[in-house]
Amino acid sequence: MRIRAQVAMVMNLDKCIGCHTCSVTCKQTWTNRDGTEYVWFNNVETKPGIGYPKGYEDQEKWKGGWKLDSHGRLQLRSGGRLKRLSRIFANPDLPTIDDYYEPATFDKDILVNAPAGRTDTPVKQPYSQLTGEPMSVVWGANWEDSLGGATGLDDPNLRAVSDKVKFEFEKTFMFYLPRICEHCLNPACVSACPSGAMYKREQDGIVLVDEDRCRGWRMCVSACPYKKVYVNHATGKAEKCTFCFPRLEAGQPTICSETCVGRLRYLGIVWYDEDAVLAAASVPESELLDAQRSAFLDPFDPAIQQAARDAGHPEEWIEAAQRSPVWKLISEYRIALPLHPEYRTLPMVWYVPPLSPVLDAAGAAGRDDTDADDIFHTIDDLRIPVEYLASLFTAGDTAVAGGVLMKLAAMRSYMRARTLDGSVAQELLDGIGMTGEQVEAMYRLLAIAKYDERYVIPAAHARDAAALEAQAAAQTDCSLDCEGGPGMSDFHLPQQPTRRRLPINPIRGRS
Ligand code: SF4
Ligand code: SF4
Repeated sequence: MRIRAQVAMVMNLDKCIGCHTCSVTCKQTWTNRDGTEYVWFNNVETKPGIGYPKGYEDQEKWKGGWKLDSHGRLQLRSGGRLKRLSRIFANPDLPTIDDYYEPATFDKDILVNAPAGRTDTPVKQPYSQLTGEPMSVVWGANWEDSLGGATGLDDPNLRAVSDKVKFEFEKTFMFYLPRICEHCLNPACVSACPSGAMYKREQDGIVLVDEDRCRGWRMCVSACPYKKVYVNHATGKAEKCTFCFPRLEAGQPTICSETCVGRLRYLGIVWYDEDAVLAAASVPESELLDAQRSAFLDPFDPAIQQAARDAGHPEEWIEAAQRSPVWKLISEYRIALPLHPEYRTLPMVWYVPPLSPVLDAAGAAGRDDTDADDIFHTIDDLRIPVEYLASLFTAGDTAVAGGVLMKLAAMRSYMRARTLDGSVAQELLDGIGMTGEQVEAMYRLLAIAKYDERYVIPAAHARDAAALEAQAAAQTDCSLDCEGGPGMSDFHLPQQPTRRRLPINPIRGRS
């Protein structure tokens, strides 16, 4: 066993209000530069919808992530090494700028310098930030904001469940899905990079780009099924979410977490066995969720604690793993789910799915909103269809998605009874197989947890900081890039001189 620590995140979708504060603060911190105008390391999508870039979840089109070949072996969907190499100068599986959106700016002088007494309203002309030409704004990273299904018919998640979801006005539903890089345990971006520029840090599993090694081949963009690697069109190099590692090393949460208005993000570390990653990513689709859950190691198991000590992990990290809210939500309460486990990258940002107002729905259906059976039956009639959530979070397994919703519904009903008259709804507890203490602890974490309960981040020790620096300087490969391991890439192109600013827009193609 090779025990590793991974910084991971859980987002509680019930609490996202779609304010985009996370996106804006992330942009101000990381992508407020030339060449990254169209880049949002953190974006918030409205679901159903096609997202950013358009239709990124359609892997038949984009060939992102992994699949099992005819022998049951894990293979990048974009093809083997030779196939990827043959496309190195003409990769057909890349989103164009129109799939993201053409970033615009405005001539604000028209407003500032409008002559006094003007009777008409001055109108700002948008200009392309890529070409400087006047343009019409026809799409954006957040174009579908709160539309609730207007573009939903093109949502790949709806194709499989279209017979269950009716876009009738009175049945329309929507929720927000904030997204960042998943810092996957089995990152397709790392494995696809021919230059060895993408890597996964050994210390905490954060996936980064070594800008000096990046040659701009953009294989990472194609390979990432979440489309969370971007090309800086000024430098021609790949850029991505860094999980705010300088903040984490100082014991602070990521900027998107720190500024989240809904306080819905949780950060913590989890242990995993690096030797078990390949097997967990290679099981049949119906077993993927369980395999991904069981990739995490129990931080309370003395044998795991000793293994962590033997591997040189500091006591502070061993203790932090036990307090990790991520471990609690994923493995203890089992209410957090991975986004698209079927991509087989083993994502490390998990989600508590949104629960429609279940007590209202029970009342509307003439059911008793304090009765366990009635509450659980109502799950099937919720406004956000279980089938849709299953397509997002459980590779289509409605039983698992419905089970999570039942826990959340039972928690609400149980806490309401406790608060109103002090009664204990034992029937509800029995229905979800949890104790009253567990439900109250889960409620506390989801509803009223304080800052230091939501973010449990051990600061990197001084000696780790030196090691991190040395690793960044000497980085040659992903830490998973061992014989037969998920990296599986021993091909590297020869070093080339670093390119300066390109006189072209590499997103559109070389001119
Ligand atoms: S989500 Fe992040 S770590 Fe995972 S494949 Fe995409 S860029 Fe790589
Ligand atoms: S800041 Fe929080 S509540 Fe606002 S959009 Fe982002 S994740 Fe949602």
